[in-house]
Amino acid sequence: RCVANQHSLRLNAFVTPLPRAGQWLDRVKEADRRREQGNPRSFIDGRLISIKDNICTRDLPTTCASEILDKFSSPFNATVVEQLEAAGAVIAGKTNLDEFGMGSHSVHSRFGPVKNVRQNGDGQDVSAGGSSGGSAVAVAADQCYAALGTDTGGSVRLPAAYTGTVGFKPSYGLISRWGVVTYANSLDTVGVLGRKVSTARHVFGLVNQHDARDPTSLSPFSRSRIMSHLQTPRLASRLSSTPLRIGVPVEYNISELTPSVRRAWLLSLAHLQDQGHTIHPVSLPATKHALSAYYVLAPAEASSNLSKYDGVRYGTRADGPDSDSQPEGYLYANTRGSGFGSEVKRRILLGTFSLSADAIDNYFIQAQRVRRLVQQDFNAVFIAKHPLAAADAQDTGRRAQQADVDVLVCPTAPSAPPRLSDFTRPAAESSPLDAYVNDVFTVPASLAGLPAISVPVTVDGSSQDPDVAGIQVVGQYGDDDLVMSVGELLE
Ligand code: GLN
Repeated sequence: RCVANQHSLRLNAFVTPLPRAGQWLDRVKEADRRREQGNPRSFIDGRLISIKDNICTRDLPTTCASEILDKFSSPFNATVVEQLEAAGAVIAGKTNLDEFGMGSHSVHSRFGPVKNVRQNGDGQDVSAGGSSGGSAVAVAADQCYAALGTDTGGSVRLPAAYTGTVGFKPSYGLISRWGVVTYANSLDTVGVLGRKVSTARHVFGLVNQHDARDPTSLSPFSRSRIMSHLQTPRLASRLSSTPLRIGVPVEYNISELTPSVRRAWLLSLAHLQDQGHTIHPVSLPATKHALSAYYVLAPAEASSNLSKYDGVRYGTRADGPDSDSQPEGYLYANTRGSGFGSEVKRRILLGTFSLSADAIDNYFIQAQRVRRLVQQDFNAVFIAKHPLAAADAQDTGRRAQQADVDVLVCPTAPSAPPRLSDFTRPAAESSPLDAYVNDVFTVPASLAGLPAISVPVTVDGSSQDPDVAGIQVVGQYGDDDLVMSVGELLE
């Protein structure tokens, strides 16, 4: 059920020591008994599930891989943890991440970088992707059956693509975030990693519920509106009898795509076509501005969220009297100065700058406008209208000009996993922008709150050293089922 040998420990996927098998065994045996009696609590009864360490657990510390939460243990479980435990899941441990979810390579962690299970052709360590790199590697190394991550701008999909696993980010608001440490409220989602789409589907089925404790959790009323709007029975017929219309966003065909990624994309489209589905080029013109908009909006929200780490209420408190007469001794400044890592500090500075009176019009407001354009781009290409958007947001004029499609299929990332050492070099030698560009294909769906899945697609299938690239399926808001079904067609 779980392999924790020297090789897997070297990967640094877990931040809490893996509990010894004995600690799980009783619960696993109980689940086995229930299964033998034909009465399992759920599909995941007795299975190990890892939890990203920005999701609160009562029995294990929750550090967000930050010094500032070094000594923090939550008095309660996040709703998602409660839901999984009620279904019989056994929590395998807390997984490593970029501090507070800020990063794309799982290197900004006070526990050190996560290592990918794969290496490149030269035998060098490569990035596991981030920020849910620990969750992805735990799945890839068979240290658990499935894992929870969080996806604000791609943090479940990018690690899935780099580790050859499946990563699913649902529509915004479907999974409860109560007990999930906030990074950027308007973008944060909880996502699922597994080896197969069916695993993600099962786990998602258990946590896809309204939670009154999360104010952004979609109400039962809105959920039923989505269901009737997207007509689930039609969904089945969309897959069995009617060919699907697959959209190919032309703006994603950038010159920087590496050959293996382009091959995986072409292969996936050919595979779908062989199954009778049709391929249609579509245009999402705001795509080229999405990344910059994201890196204005996410830090802005983060700078506000992180203000609560002041050395008084949570976690680590730095020494020094909080006294005006000794400016160098400010408790607040000392705590934050020593408690946050450099990437988090950079985000706080970026965020407070773009929200400041002088800059807000040029940065934050513009980025919000771009976000609206990105949403309109998607609404213009999908057959299904956005079930919750007002009619005037559907932009019918543009819809008429586009080939209506059921889903979009594109790469998850422009390249294979880059060398890990490219991101662990001293700051002076590498620019943070080198890391940000890897999110170029994942942030648009995040800005629009859409469901998206990354599925590993093998190119040149030599079983010795298969070249695997992540291919992403993006659907209309609430079309989570269809997105997973198309993901399954690519497996
Ligand atoms: N890499 C992106 C960032 O650093 C996305 C992170 C995430 O989805 N949590 O903000």
